[in-house]
Amino acid sequence: MSQPKYIFVTGGVTSSLGKGIVAASLGMLLKSRGYKVTIQKLDPYINVDPGTLNPYEHGECYVTEDGAETDLDLGHYERFLNQNTSQANNVTTGRIYQSVIDKERRGDYLGKTVQIIPHITNEIKRRIKLLNRSGDYDIIITEIGGTVGDIESLPYIEAVRQLRWDLGEDNSLIIHLTLIPYLAASGELKTKPTQHSVRLLMESGIQSDVLVCRTEHEIPKEMFSKLALFCNVKKGNVIECLDAETIYDVPLMLREQDFDDVVLRGLKLSTASKPELNQWKSFLDNLKNPEDHIRIALVGKYVSLQDSYKSITEAFIHAGAAIKAQVKVKWIYSGDLNNETCEKFLSDVDGVLIAPGFGDRGIEGKIIAAQYARENNIPLLGVCLGMQMMAIEYARNVLGFEGAESAETNIQTPYPVISLMDEQKNITNKGGTMRLGAWECRLKGDSIIKEIYDTELISERHRHRYEFNNEYFKDFENSGFIPTGINPDTGLVEILELPEHPFYLGVQFHPEYKSTVATPHPLFKAFLKAALKNQKQEKLSNARKEI
Ligand code: GLN
Repeated sequence: MSQPKYIFVTGGVTSSLGKGIVAASLGMLLKSRGYKVTIQKLDPYINVDPGTLNPYEHGECYVTEDGAETDLDLGHYERFLNQNTSQANNVTTGRIYQSVIDKERRGDYLGKTVQIIPHITNEIKRRIKLLNRSGDYDIIITEIGGTVGDIESLPYIEAVRQLRWDLGEDNSLIIHLTLIPYLAASGELKTKPTQHSVRLLMESGIQSDVLVCRTEHEIPKEMFSKLALFCNVKKGNVIECLDAETIYDVPLMLREQDFDDVVLRGLKLSTASKPELNQWKSFLDNLKNPEDHIRIALVGKYVSLQDSYKSITEAFIHAGAAIKAQVKVKWIYSGDLNNETCEKFLSDVDGVLIAPGFGDRGIEGKIIAAQYARENNIPLLGVCLGMQMMAIEYARNVLGFEGAESAETNIQTPYPVISLMDEQKNITNKGGTMRLGAWECRLKGDSIIKEIYDTELISERHRHRYEFNNEYFKDFENSGFIPTGINPDTGLVEILELPEHPFYLGVQFHPEYKSTVATPHPLFKAFLKAALKNQKQEKLSNARKEI
């Protein structure tokens, strides 16, 4: 097994500069040149994983095939590289400490004092290397969360310093992402914060090899030399990262400056094979030159932070480009929807997506949205909690089950159409205890969903505790809201569809996690096509009315 190469991406000056996008873009470029690449994120917070974090604060929790609840950057990695990540790709300080403390309790440290150095740093190094335990990769990119200088990042920086030393020359590279602020009053870009940030990194014994500079304005030529000189990096190793129209432009913007060549040369890897980017370029071409525009209402309770639904909005972008349509999302806070306001919010959209979520706030608004879409023939896709609310709405308004609710919101309901599985009933811990990760689902023979997937057995990712209650299976099936996707091992209902409606489909899983640039999700494509059809019919009937 040859020595893999390690790339570390650090961030300076401010947070939210887009380290995840830069890491994903680099990964994609290197992969497109034939290298086997994976990306890992180290998060310096104490939560063992982001599963318990509030989406308002931290954005979406992304779920991998193996059921890890991870940072949303892992979603970018998968979407850009079109390859799966796993639990090993996201490590938090909480997880590091948890394993060190577990070892201490087991007596593994043989009476030694357990300290940040070497025990925590060794555990960080072990986790970084663990990713390549099967020797699958040529290059491992590790994104260090947080900003250089944060107290909580220090053990990571020290671990990286040591790892570089262990790995020896030419086997690792530091990419430092910084901000070049623009002072509007004097009309200037400023390099000083970057110089300070590089110096701060040096105080911890790490010299950056490549600078990626986020900027709102083009960096003048002479400034590149100045940055190289004062930050002590090679000429040519300063890369500009201008604000982009879409995150999917970033790989090409970086490629234009030979970023991938700079990195490969720094790692003493061959630059002989050129990147194969045709598919990416045609995706971008479709994205930027849409023939149609579709308006989709996203009904959810975390809409004030749109990152909470990152994978859904990205899935719209991928599927939209595939059918040459641009999707405009109308964000609707479900708490604003009631019988009076519903028409006003939903009458001007081509389709509705009812989003995943937890807890009872805004629940009734989701039920009303489901009813409105069902009664007005508006295409609707319900995801996870979205599907559960479609079931509740149908139970109440079509089956006549008055007071039907999910056991999540009312344990006393006379009709617990959505209920807790027996396995879940005794679980009290919140972290990592839901039905998580990839589960198989068998699709019913003559269903709409089977036509969409064009196969019988699918696998999709899950993240929920509550399930469709099979006591009501026959009631639903007989009245036409049909369970058309069933988990073959447990008999759990994964999909409900209403064949008499133009598109009324709820899925217990999260299709959005599996949508990538290279493989837009069939369910999102089908939903958008239905929304577009709805729009065209609407236009036609309006035109007829005018005549
Ligand atoms: N709160 C619901 C459950 O736990 C749905 C979860 C979700 O939408 N991800 O079952």
